[in-house]
Amino acid sequence: MAGSEALEVGSRHDLRAARSPDAPDTATYEGRAATHGWVHSYETGSTVDGPGIRITLFMSGCLLRCQFCHNPDTWQLKDGTRVELAQAVRRLSDFAPMLRAMGGGLTISGGEPLVQPGFTGGMFAAAKRMGLHTALDTSGLLGSRADDDYLRSVDLVLLDIKSGDPDTYRRITSRDLAPTLRFAERLAAQSKPTWIRFTLVPGETDDPANVEGIARFVAPMTNVEWVEVQPFHQMGAFKWKAMGIEYKLADTPTASRELVDRVIGQFRAAGCRVR
Ligand code: SF4
Repeated sequence: MAGSEALEVGSRHDLRAARSPDAPDTATYEGRAATHGWVHSYETGSTVDGPGIRITLFMSGCLLRCQFCHNPDTWQLKDGTRVELAQAVRRLSDFAPMLRAMGGGLTISGGEPLVQPGFTGGMFAAAKRMGLHTALDTSGLLGSRADDDYLRSVDLVLLDIKSGDPDTYRRITSRDLAPTLRFAERLAAQSKPTWIRFTLVPGETDDPANVEGIARFVAPMTNVEWVEVQPFHQMGAFKWKAMGIEYKLADTPTASRELVDRVIGQFRAAGCRVR
């Protein structure tokens, strides 16, 4: 096993690859008890990953293969940096007074935080002991790994529903939609504050029936505070090229203002609060 390295401050847009060649295989790793984890990077001062000013920790490992992924360098644990949990907690504690003063907290994103539930659960529990607000940014595929104990340390879930149609979901992510919907229903049953995130990709997820499917599913959920429509952009394209992975959306345009407005209008018409 490679030794632990420093937890790197950086950006979700930095390319990181082949940092930990000895890391376990992402597809079979369950990571329930963990003294260490594999991390892409962390950002300070984020204002888009939950309320207030936040530290956002980007975990390595994801089982989806979204065609529009901006960070394919987070898919494999071996591309991340191996970090001790205790070291990451100490680093977070350095920022805790500032985060409390700014009404912010810790968001864990990825990749997929639930590929490593032991490490991310440990970080959330530590953040709560520091009096910080916590947010989990997840696709929901591995929602069953977030047991009730795990969710007790999570104040807000940012849940990506990438399509409301099972066939479209499988085509654009390579995985099934059902676990994400089951996780959403569990969050609703627990009244867990949730923001739904929808990536709007022209020609892929913009079909009115697709949007309608998500809107109708989400609208009755009183725990959902916001639906966020996130227009697709090409900022991650260079990573696909650098990693030698075929990128099917090379010619896909950014969503136009008109298209974004139409989709926002659909969510509003269904009764969702949207931005
Ligand atoms: S869930 Fe996120 S990290 Fe995983 S493939 Fe999709 S966009 Fe990329």
